[in-house]
Amino acid sequence: MANAELHVGQLLARPGEKVFGLVEVDAGGHAVKLPVFLINGQAAGPTLVMTGGIHAAEYASIAAALDAGQTLDPQELAGRAIIVPVVNVPGFRVRSIYVCPLDGKNPNRFFPGNAAGSPTEQLAGWVFQNVISQANYYMDLHGGDMIEALVPFTLFYRSGNADLDRKSQDLAQVFGIPLLVGSETVGSTYSAAARAGIPAILAEAGGQGIWTAEDVRLHREGISRVMRHLGMLAGPAPEPVTHRLLERFLWLYSEHEAFWYPDTGVGQDVRAGQALGQVRDYEGHVLQTALAPADGRVLFLVSSLAINKRDPLLAVGA
Ligand SMILES: [Zn+2]
Repeated sequence: MANAELHVGQLLARPGEKVFGLVEVDAGGHAVKLPVFLINGQAAGPTLVMTGGIHAAEYASIAAALDAGQTLDPQELAGRAIIVPVVNVPGFRVRSIYVCPLDGKNPNRFFPGNAAGSPTEQLAGWVFQNVISQANYYMDLHGGDMIEALVPFTLFYRSGNADLDRKSQDLAQVFGIPLLVGSETVGSTYSAAARAGIPAILAEAGGQGIWTAEDVRLHREGISRVMRHLGMLAGPAPEPVTHRLLERFLWLYSEHEAFWYPDTGVGQDVRAGQALGQVRDYEGHVLQTALAPADGRVLFLVSSLAINKRDPLLAVGA
C-alpha cells in the first residue's frame, strides 16, 4: 500500500515527492510565512512530524531541522515526514528570546493553541491543527535560548495511557541523549501532542545563541536514529545509549528585576537546599537566594546578568 498524499496549507506532496514552501498563516491579523518541508516516501510507513524554532534563537535545533528537510530523500524514505524548521518566524528575524514578538508570549506555553486567541495562540493553534495533528510520532527540537546554558536532555510526558507513554519514552531513549525527563510543561508542544494521543518528545541541545557542530549533530543524529528505529530509513537499529531518567523538572524564577549571579553550572549535581545563586540589586544587596528544590542535576541555567521579574533562573531535574 502506498502512502496517502501529504498536505499542509496549499502544499501537496505525492508518494515519492519532496516539496518545500512557505505557507501563509494568519496569526491575529499578522501574515506569518511558515517554512514547511513535506517529504512523502516512496514506500509506506508512519508519519513523523518535526518542529524547530518554537523558540527562535535555539539555533542548533533549527540548523538540524533545516538539514533534515534539505537532505531527506523521498526515494529512501518509508513513510512521511513533515518538518517545520522555524515555527516562531517573527521571533527568528528579530532574534527574540523566549517569546513571539507579535504579542510577547512564549509559544511553548500555548499549545494546542486557540484560533480565537492572541497572535501566538493562533499560530500555535494553526500549527497544532494542520501539522502536529497529522503525526503518528512527533518531535519538537529545542536548545538553551540565547541566554541559557544547558546540558542536553529529552523531555517526554506521561499521560497515564501506558501504551502511549511507552512509545513516548521509547522515542526519548532512541533519540540518543542520555538524560531523560518524564515531566509535563503545561501548554508545551510535546505535552499537548501526548494529550491528543500522539507519542511525542521535546529534545534540548545547544544554547547561548551558539550552534556548535556537536550540538547540531546531536539533534541531526537523533532524527536519523528515530527514523531508523521507526523503520522509515534503512540501516542498523540505533545503538542503545545508557540513560538516566529524572522524574521531575523543577524551575526557579526571579522575584525581582535585578542582577543574576549564578553559583552553579549546568550538569552539576546539587543537594536539596543548596544555594545555587543570588539575585542582587545595584548596590549588591542580596534580594533572593536560589535554593535547590530537591536533590538533582542542573539542566539549564540563565547566563545573562540581566534578570527580570518572573524570568527563569535555572531548572533542576530530580
Ligand atoms: Zn526552547
